[in-house]
Amino acid sequence: MVRRRQSDRRILTNNPSYIQVILPLKLEWEPFYRVEESGVTIGDRARVIFAGKQYIAVVSAVNAQPEIDLKKIMPIVTLEREMERVLPEEIELWRQVADYYLCTVGEVYKAAYPAMKVTLEEARAAALAKARERRQRLLLSMNAKVDRIRGRLAKKQALAEKSKPGTKAFYTHQQGLEKIQKELQTALDAVLAYENAQNDAVPAEEFEIHESVVLSEAQEKAYGEIMSGFAERKPVLLHGVTGSGKTQIYIKLAQETLARGLGVLYLVPEIALSRQLQDRLFEHFGERLLVFHSGESAVSRRNTAEAIRIASAGYIVLGTRSSLFLPHHDLGLIVVDEEHDNSYKQDSPAPRYNGRDSALMLSMIHKSNIILGSATPSFEESYNCLTGRHIPVRLTERYHGAQDSEIQIIDTKAERRKKGMEGSFSRKLIEAVRQTLAQGQQVMLLRSRRAWAPALQCESCGEIVKCPHCNVSLTLHKNASGEFMACHYCGYKAAFSGTCGKCSGQLKGLGAGTQKIEEEAAALFPTARIARLDSDTYADKKQENAIIKDFAAGKIDILIGTQMLAKGFDFSNLSLVAVIAADTLLGMQDFRADEKALQLLEQFRGRCGRREHKGLFIIQTSQPEHPVYSRLNESAGSDLQDMLQERHDFNFPPFSRIIEITFRDKYEDRAQRMAFKLAGMLSRHFSSGSVRRTALDASPVTGPYAPVVDKVADEYIRTIRVSLKKDRNLRSHKSALREMIATFEKAEKYTGHISIDVDPA
Ligand code: ADP
Ligand code: ZN
Ligand code: ZN
Repeated sequence: MVRRRQSDRRILTNNPSYIQVILPLKLEWEPFYRVEESGVTIGDRARVIFAGKQYIAVVSAVNAQPEIDLKKIMPIVTLEREMERVLPEEIELWRQVADYYLCTVGEVYKAAYPAMKVTLEEARAAALAKARERRQRLLLSMNAKVDRIRGRLAKKQALAEKSKPGTKAFYTHQQGLEKIQKELQTALDAVLAYENAQNDAVPAEEFEIHESVVLSEAQEKAYGEIMSGFAERKPVLLHGVTGSGKTQIYIKLAQETLARGLGVLYLVPEIALSRQLQDRLFEHFGERLLVFHSGESAVSRRNTAEAIRIASAGYIVLGTRSSLFLPHHDLGLIVVDEEHDNSYKQDSPAPRYNGRDSALMLSMIHKSNIILGSATPSFEESYNCLTGRHIPVRLTERYHGAQDSEIQIIDTKAERRKKGMEGSFSRKLIEAVRQTLAQGQQVMLLRSRRAWAPALQCESCGEIVKCPHCNVSLTLHKNASGEFMACHYCGYKAAFSGTCGKCSGQLKGLGAGTQKIEEEAAALFPTARIARLDSDTYADKKQENAIIKDFAAGKIDILIGTQMLAKGFDFSNLSLVAVIAADTLLGMQDFRADEKALQLLEQFRGRCGRREHKGLFIIQTSQPEHPVYSRLNESAGSDLQDMLQERHDFNFPPFSRIIEITFRDKYEDRAQRMAFKLAGMLSRHFSSGSVRRTALDASPVTGPYAPVVDKVADEYIRTIRVSLKKDRNLRSHKSALREMIATFEKAEKYTGHISIDVDPA
């Protein structure tokens, strides 16, 4: 006989009620469950069974009135009381993201709360341990500060001793001495107080000794404009050249936000490249700084979330786009650094969201201030300012007064004819590198293709070696253990025999990737210390950090790398920056290609000449007459109107919203057939009078077409592009689109994969 347990009886005596939940799935609806417990609220976590499997769900509605047969509604398995509750603001963000990017709320939930094994208690304990660790670090940095002040004091004392008593110099030295002595006393008091308080429950931030921020005149003016933008409750775009002090202003804004007891979210496109920024923020915020990114383990993710939950007097998170989904509360400020950067966009899996645009949603939900910054604002942001939705603020001068670096364009075709090229280097570039090195300055070389050779070709039959799983050429890599071929799309690797699989002819490398450039540079500049930074070296975090550190410390003379070199680094001794073959930056077939190339070149140019000396920016290209280069010299924004007109005429964003539908299928014929069928359906729907207004309007549906790389990891790819007018029908068109695709998948019983991407990168 089965003995009925105590708890069962208790449940039976309660009145059941009905809830709805969000499941971590691609599910278009929120299923009902029955609960016996009272006091269940929205945001609670519950274990439920759905389609035979257990999931941890989030309660999204309570006291629900299901319109289906109540007997069919299953009870939940348990309420997970010990798990973290989800805040209403978090659920609201999921809904908005899902709505905008045409995915399900469950998919966003899954991204925000990845399944993890660690319990909340463990996370809490770890968060406390981390806090202790941060305190230790803080103590170290406080002591380091004391040492620095002592150093300055000693120098000043030496100067004071040399000056004659009674002179003006003597007097000023004495004054200086007193000031430094006072500073030292304050710092020593802080250390003492901090050490005494170690065992008490006094929060460490009380003892932080912030490096105070003093703005320059130009920055102060920008700051005032930002504050009045915030007062109007509008997002602000801070458009300022590299080195103008945007970061300095963010720090000041963050300090004030924290002082009001509110939270700060500081978004960056990629964390790996923000080492210098991390150090800089640490100086100002000490142990309050939390760093968060998608590469983080589930455990440390949960620790950060927990640290935010328990923060009662403000917090600051430096993170990538996924930190939008942390349990933000009392959020006062969002900073979107380098807002134009494409890395803000998540390609896969869903939600395919853009961190910048989702940050705007988050700021609306929390009614927090938001500032977006860039030296090369995205077209969309410039447009937002033009229409008055956002407030533009300009910073035109560099803090250290350095001038813009000089630009020199080198025509590689002409040079080649004149025999002015040695491998990938023009004589002019070689000369410039030599001069720079001779002056004890540093050089950065950008090459947008990694590997030794980007492609391999047979000298006898002309065959290009392709990846067996992708429609793309294999690259040649060299490392300590030898040569190998690799696919940059699926990761396939194979030994390199040097002979053609078809005719046994000799294979030769086509073009030069970063590895080959490194080799060439070593031969051309034999005494220089050379290092390389691209996603091959970057896989090893330690090595990457070491390279950046060494370059900053002047232990490396020439740094060679891919696009990532263009981002956020600040090296004061760097005075020559060169792009080896800029043509590869221009070649993208995309209406945004020029905008992207220009942004990258501007960013790269901003790397050098950050201090007193003027830098040199060399661009090697075979198309020197390309309009992108002439625009580099013009002041930004002057041609905004022209570009706007062009985008308007072609119905491109920001006048339309582009939605890309991608088919991935094991069978090429099926991918083509299915994509063709769906494109036809969409075309019939969206070309009807309600969408197309005039005969001049291009059809809003194009494709299906095969992308440049139309097979990846044994899946064939077809895409359809829908571009919808931004008018009041946009929302209903978007949801119609989503429904049509869902219906299509079901009706066709399609087993391939269809994904929807709104605002593709
Ligand atoms: P941006 O973010 O626009 O590239 P930064 O804030 O990094 O500019 O400033 C560039 C350099 O100038 C940094 O080394 C920074 O420390 C320095 N700097 C900028 N503004 C100030 C200021 N008000 N006081 C002291 N240093 C500043
Ligand atoms: Zn061959
Ligand atoms: Zn491949």
